[in-house]
Amino acid sequence: MQTIEKFNFAGHKAFVRVDFNVPLDEKFNITDDTRIRAAVPTLKKILKDGGSVIIGSHLGRPKGVDAKFSLQHILPRVSELLGVKVEFANDCLGTEAVEKSAALKPGQALLLENLRFYAAEEGKPRGLADDASDEVKAAAKKAEKANQKEMAKQLATYATVYVNDAFGTAHRAHASTAIIADSFDADHKLFGYLMQNEIDAVEKVMDNTARPFTAIMGGSKVSSKIEIIENLLTKVDNLIIAGGMTYTFTKALGGKIGTSICEYDKLDLAKDLIQKAKANNVNLVLATDAKIADDFSNDAQTKFVPVNAIPDGWQGLDIGPDTEKKFAAVIEASKTILWNGPTGVFEFENFTSGSRAVGNAIVKATAKGAFSLVGGGDSVACVNKFGIADKMSYVSTGGGALLEFIEGKELPGIKAIRGH
Ligand code: AMP
Repeated sequence: MQTIEKFNFAGHKAFVRVDFNVPLDEKFNITDDTRIRAAVPTLKKILKDGGSVIIGSHLGRPKGVDAKFSLQHILPRVSELLGVKVEFANDCLGTEAVEKSAALKPGQALLLENLRFYAAEEGKPRGLADDASDEVKAAAKKAEKANQKEMAKQLATYATVYVNDAFGTAHRAHASTAIIADSFDADHKLFGYLMQNEIDAVEKVMDNTARPFTAIMGGSKVSSKIEIIENLLTKVDNLIIAGGMTYTFTKALGGKIGTSICEYDKLDLAKDLIQKAKANNVNLVLATDAKIADDFSNDAQTKFVPVNAIPDGWQGLDIGPDTEKKFAAVIEASKTILWNGPTGVFEFENFTSGSRAVGNAIVKATAKGAFSLVGGGDSVACVNKFGIADKMSYVSTGGGALLEFIEGKELPGIKAIRGH
């Protein structure tokens, strides 16, 4: 397999799929350019080698051509970060894109308009009436899949090599993230640095694991994390359950949880996961105490109580000090750590203590040589908020893609390049 490090791009035109889906304010200013910066090393390496780049991305969820979602909004910032004046094609398909990519000289860059202006990018029909018959729906789906292949083929004609650096969309089989790779032979398709780093980090955690391996699963709901928890139960030594999920487990074990968040239809599932942990010899670490509040608010009255004795009218919004110590001891003795999801409602300053304690324990373990991977939107927000992101071994840029990768699923964007 080709790698970005080895490949010499001199004289090549590279189609680089990036994830420039950055947040914009109402005046279309970029409020966080992390995703653009994340792809810069790959783009710069190609330009420095003497290649040229055709940059493709989506932005938002347009239903068709829509100026609100134009990549023109981010063009100045892309030029600034790359240190070259980036050209723009007002349509990712058609004559302008063909001519502008053909005219690129070594060291030059072209940004294409939003790929998702075309339904073919996702390969899903748009604008179908809700009451359309199954036959109509099936025919529309088939037609859009054919359009998707055609779109992928057209995009491929712009370039001599395909580079995927869009980890955020690696779990999608879209025209520009996966299907396009069919038009390039094995020596002319490769991962960008960001994609490669993400893959290496997840594989280090899930496949080449130094032990003990501890996963901390927080966040609000068990239902959104079942598949990850089930996969982790076959891999980890310790599984720490935190956040809102705590109360579904506590309730399943017969505790009193007051008005804490709880998925009452998932109590059997929680019991089942407890049994599976036992059967797999996994140390399932649950909270013992909680910081409870008489309202879902930063200014609520609070107290600490045992996690299974929460009075009526009160709810657990973070773990308590005993649990912090218990979690920290497990984390600090670990050699591999995966953190997904806060231990409490970290958006409220008064309920950040548990997540800070987990974050600090990971910092200590990492300083002692453990490998730590933090991923999934809210845990990344946590480490950024606490100023400890640079003390983690790796902070993933992927949300859904990371979670599916950890679930053990094959990601189309990865498979399209390396075959698995
Ligand atoms: P998720 O997107 O599933 O990772 O969940 C993250 C969200 O879970 C954050 O917005 C937290 O505020 C929320 N959360 C964590 N602990 C609790 C809790 N005890 N009660 C309610 N929400 C919580």
